[in-house]
Amino acid sequence: MNYNLTEEQVMIRDLARQIAKDKIRPVAAEMDEKGEFPWEIMKVLSESDLFGIYIEEKYGGTGGGVLDLSIATEELSRACGGIAVCYAASALGTYPIILYGNDQQKDKYLPDLAKGTRLAAFGLTEAGAGSDAGAIETTAKKEGDCYVLNGTKQWITNGGEAEVYTIIAMTDKTRGARGASAFIIEKGTEGFTFGKKENKLGIRASATRELVFTNCKIPKENLLGKEGMGFVVAMKTFDISRPGVAAQAVGIAQGALDLAVKYARERVQFGKPIISFQGIQFMLADMATQIEAARALVYASARMIDSGEGKVGKESAMAKLFASDTCMKVTTDALQILADTDI
Ligand SMILES: Cc1cc2nc3c(=O)[nH]c(=O)nc-3n(C[C@H](O)[C@H](O)[C@H](O)COP(=O)(O)OP(=O)(O)OC[C@H]3O[C@@H](n4cnc5c(N)ncnc54)[C@H](O)[C@@H]3O)c2cc1C
Repeated sequence: MNYNLTEEQVMIRDLARQIAKDKIRPVAAEMDEKGEFPWEIMKVLSESDLFGIYIEEKYGGTGGGVLDLSIATEELSRACGGIAVCYAASALGTYPIILYGNDQQKDKYLPDLAKGTRLAAFGLTEAGAGSDAGAIETTAKKEGDCYVLNGTKQWITNGGEAEVYTIIAMTDKTRGARGASAFIIEKGTEGFTFGKKENKLGIRASATRELVFTNCKIPKENLLGKEGMGFVVAMKTFDISRPGVAAQAVGIAQGALDLAVKYARERVQFGKPIISFQGIQFMLADMATQIEAARALVYASARMIDSGEGKVGKESAMAKLFASDTCMKVTTDALQILADTDI
């Protein structure tokens, strides 16, 4: 389908596709098995200027938007969902600074994040606060010119590997969700350590880890926006990052379809390549159609965000919902076609 991408977006797509094919695909299975963080690949992406594609030029980016990021994420995910999420999660951690950072915070953090010399992570989830994001218990208490953080974040992508963390903590528990605030915290800050690393079933090259704050003192300048805005920071971040997550799902599904088609052409049973059986053709046609529909929703919602449309929550959620369900369906069907092959 022709999505009328700009020249720049076509370049991003082709570059990410090439890196996925030449650098990621050959190491994907091994990195997944070992659960090793893909620093070598992050370096390649950094040298290819892919980390800054959604960041303003004045901070060292190339000034694109959510669609550019979605296109790159989709292509990388086609080769490995785990490696791609290390890249995409850095954007998730960076968006709060783009959306709510002041000039000093943007000057300080965005250039390195745009270069990819430092990665970011976003920390909201806790043991008792998953879907119910307003139930977070990590506290940030104002003490003079500082905030002191205590609590544990759970399942944080790029945890331990990222240098810059955007964190949501309660500055006033009595106010519920309105008592949450957002902060920037750097790796190496005293009182900030990393806990359990999850031993995941998939996307194992990506690190998913606990962040532990024990009397962690940070300067008050690290507050993002104003006190009490943490929940808004989180929700706005999710609104604009969902197409990127959905793009991962589209990429993973496309990668699975690519493999299924290749194998169905090669695998001979009953004297014919299995792709010549109509039962397989129906499956492949459905997979391709579902992926294209998901992609269309991702690109449309990303474009809405990039055009400056204010209310994008519903559309970005629809893209994520549809693309992630599509990814589950397509990869399940791909497994059916690949049967017991070791591709
Ligand atoms: C690999 C991975 C990476 C992650 N990375 C990050 C990260 O970088 N940063 C971060 O902050 N978090 C991260 N998370 C956490 C993620 O955002 C949470 O897993 C998610 O918010 C869901 O929370 P939960 O897993 O506690 O599920 P729960 O909220 O416990 O939900 C359990 C089930 O109940 C359902 N449910 C919940 N509430 C309702 C309701 N009201 N009505 C009907 N059904 C409901 C859910 O749909 C789900 O099926 C990550 C998680 C994973 C697995």
